[in-house]
Amino acid sequence: MSAGASPVLRFAPSPNGRLHLGHALSALLNARMAARLGGRLLLRIEDIDPVRSRPELIEGIEEDLAWLGLRFAGATLRQSTRMEAYAEARDGLAASGLAYPCFCSRAVVAAAAGEGPPRDPDGSPLYPGTCRALPPETRARRLAAGEAHVWRLDMARALEHAPGPHRIRVFDPDGCEEERDADPGRWGDAVIARRDVPTSYHLAVVLDDAAQEVSHVVRGADLEAATDLHRLLQTLLGLDAPAYHHHPLVRGEDGEKLAKSRNAPALATLRAAGATPAELRARLGFE
Ligand code: GLU
Repeated sequence: MSAGASPVLRFAPSPNGRLHLGHALSALLNARMAARLGGRLLLRIEDIDPVRSRPELIEGIEEDLAWLGLRFAGATLRQSTRMEAYAEARDGLAASGLAYPCFCSRAVVAAAAGEGPPRDPDGSPLYPGTCRALPPETRARRLAAGEAHVWRLDMARALEHAPGPHRIRVFDPDGCEEERDADPGRWGDAVIARRDVPTSYHLAVVLDDAAQEVSHVVRGADLEAATDLHRLLQTLLGLDAPAYHHHPLVRGEDGEKLAKSRNAPALATLRAAGATPAELRARLGFE
């Protein structure tokens, strides 16, 4: 945040289902933090997935948030409108030799990694680097032939280029800040752009937080480890880094993280069953 600028926060749901209690908690915590800091709260729709992001889900999200009593500053940013910016950043990383095309299917990646492979913080096997070693002419020929591919960060080169130490500013609910060390290397050669769109969640989120001048990110603890990778991408791309607060997740009655498909009733379902915004707020610890 530049000196004198007022804080900017954002709530950034992915429209691949209706909002549930976990989203409501995140949105309400963002609103409370924005009020405490005297900042603005933006809404960003993370609709990079062209198949799962359906227009009626985006409308549903806006309806749920309005019902909860949340108001957002400025226009809503949809990530689907930002593909050119993502492509430019992806191409810049590739041109600097920090990203490379990977033609391996998921099945090939899993098989190449073998039994009991080292895993990234999300539990996926670390990419064994098969396509990192492709000779430039093979790479060029396969790209020219239009072979499906993702783009991966070359983590070893990225860390040579930006050796760190990588530090993340974190803040608590009172807004007090401290720093922690980030360890981006544990993500290995992470995917920065998917087959179907010129970005992945990781690339889009850092570009948009910077483009929207977000100063304070409030999001669930399930994204805490990803912040290490985000911090490295920010350094590689020359972007300002926000401060972060990762809140505990709402658990279902089964003790598991809420997932739309399993144990999380949609806010719309709770509303249809007669729940009021005040009851939901109280249930999540807000008066
Ligand atoms: N779109 C992500 C989600 O719905 C959140 C991204 C973020 O807050 O950084 O889980």
